[in-house]
Amino acid sequence: MDCIFCKIAAGEIPCKQAYEDGDVLAFYDINPQALVHILIIPKAHIGGAEEISPENSALFGKCFEAAAKIAGALNLKDFRVVTNNGASAGQTVRHLHFHLLAGRALGSMG
Ligand code: AMP
Ligand code: ZN
Repeated sequence: MDCIFCKIAAGEIPCKQAYEDGDVLAFYDINPQALVHILIIPKAHIGGAEEISPENSALFGKCFEAAAKIAGALNLKDFRVVTNNGASAGQTVRHLHFHLLAGRALGSMG
């Protein structure tokens, strides 16, 4: 499958890694929108939040466990975790990912 985040998860495309375990990888966004902008992905390909199901939803929890671990490691007290599903919601990479944003006043959700 021609998926850039699958290639990053497979080590075929380099990234600045922030966290890794058997199921989850986190790496710094190439175009940061906050002082801290990290992407958290399941290593397995899930297209987006609309594809979360009883069979794969444990990975959703694991991504949020990773967010808590990263926030702890980076000493972030306040942070935001968001996902975009679908092009009109701003999804540009069709592999489920959570943006972990911190380090500036984040404003309200638009
Ligand atoms: P979204 O627009 O929600 O689909 O988020 C995709 C994010 O992936 C954007 O914030 C991009 O800056 C980021 N991105 C795209 N390619 C890479 C890459 N090779 N390494 C790190 N981040 C990337
Ligand atoms: Zn993928």
